[in-house]
Amino acid sequence: MIGVNDGVGRRVAGVSGGAVDSRVCAAHPSGATNVTTEDSMHHEAAQHFSFGTRAIHAGVEPEPVTGAIMTPIFQTSTYVQPAVGEPREGRYDYGRTANPTREALEGSIASLEGGTHGVAFASGLAAIEAVVKRLSAGDHVVSEENTYGGTTRMFDHVLSRLGLEFTYVDARDESAVAAAMRPETKLVHVETPTNPMMKLCDIAAVAEIAHDGGALLSVDNTFASPFNQRPLELGADFTIHSSTKYVNGHSDVIGGLVAIRDEALAEELYFIRKSSGAVPGPMDCFLTLRGIKTLHVRMERHNANGLAVARWLEDHPRIDRVLYPGLPSHDQHELAARQMSGFTGMVSVDVGSLERTKALTEHLRVFALAESLGGIESLVNVPALMTHGSVPEERREAMGMTPGLIRFSVGIEDVDDLIADLDRVLA
Ligand SMILES: *Cc1c(COP(=O)(O)O)cnc(C)c1O
Repeated sequence: MIGVNDGVGRRVAGVSGGAVDSRVCAAHPSGATNVTTEDSMHHEAAQHFSFGTRAIHAGVEPEPVTGAIMTPIFQTSTYVQPAVGEPREGRYDYGRTANPTREALEGSIASLEGGTHGVAFASGLAAIEAVVKRLSAGDHVVSEENTYGGTTRMFDHVLSRLGLEFTYVDARDESAVAAAMRPETKLVHVETPTNPMMKLCDIAAVAEIAHDGGALLSVDNTFASPFNQRPLELGADFTIHSSTKYVNGHSDVIGGLVAIRDEALAEELYFIRKSSGAVPGPMDCFLTLRGIKTLHVRMERHNANGLAVARWLEDHPRIDRVLYPGLPSHDQHELAARQMSGFTGMVSVDVGSLERTKALTEHLRVFALAESLGGIESLVNVPALMTHGSVPEERREAMGMTPGLIRFSVGIEDVDDLIADLDRVLA
């Protein structure tokens, strides 16, 4: 019985009806796709308006029965079908396969990233895993060496056991990416700016190298957010977010998102998600969608506060080195200015030693000592001992991730209070 009516058994072709949802199509900024929605206000908002307007409206329709302006939380595992094997809208058969709250979120991220489709996952790592799971045993991945620590752990300790091979490179150097390509390379995976070293890679240049070698490019855009950087517009095939961070922005959800501008790739990801099961819950989708509505306003303040804190730290005699792509002293500032429209609230500094790191981070009052980033509240983290503890020590040292490195996620509090907090512990 199970497997017949539970939404798993009937579809053999791997096609999720959600892929061509009118809401997702309506979110296409070019308006090129066929749109079936009758609501022209929301449809037009998604097509023609600029980022802030799309952050509020794209993917979202008023609920048809009551007109509720907020997307309802469809907290259901299954749907009643009018006839045997005829789910409503051709897809509402089971909650893993289709959920309207999730589809609204997917339409939103597709629009904000300049894509045609969005795919929501239970976490950022589940989103990255799904992109890599398109590959088969024997395939090869070229990855930036300084990715999120959990990404490296998944590649080295889970996916490599299944027969995938990974080569790590410093993607600042495009010739290193090109040199690592092999005939069996199917994916290049980068993060820019990287966490926590704030290294950048030239997305357009790396996309060309990947495509020339017959591979696709995925960009983990978590650090920049779609407000500051849109990799699909620069030639990437997948933009990935840990929506846990800036996209949701309120430190109350773990989630992942992928945006794509190719229908066949989207279908593959819907199929992988349905088959592997890493779906986000409806409540988490609702909260993330609610968070996105203020993404542009939050990011403006994160960008301003980040720059102010970075400048202040750079002038401080007790700080050895500040890593922030928005400072002219950053060795890739020119690329940052070309590829990004803002530089976020992520600032890393080197204070020289573990003792000084502890003395500083444990006595801040406004900055909370915690992992994660991108929320409205300011956080501080010691990567070598916290977020990146799972990265092998030799690799950490090679990247310059010393125990004296501190990473700040500058929130959207009043910046004077943030600087006063830093001033007190540095005095
Ligand atoms: C946090 C993070 C991830 C992992 O996301 P989760 O939502 O924690 O699974 C991936 N990439 C980057 C850059 C991150 O910061």
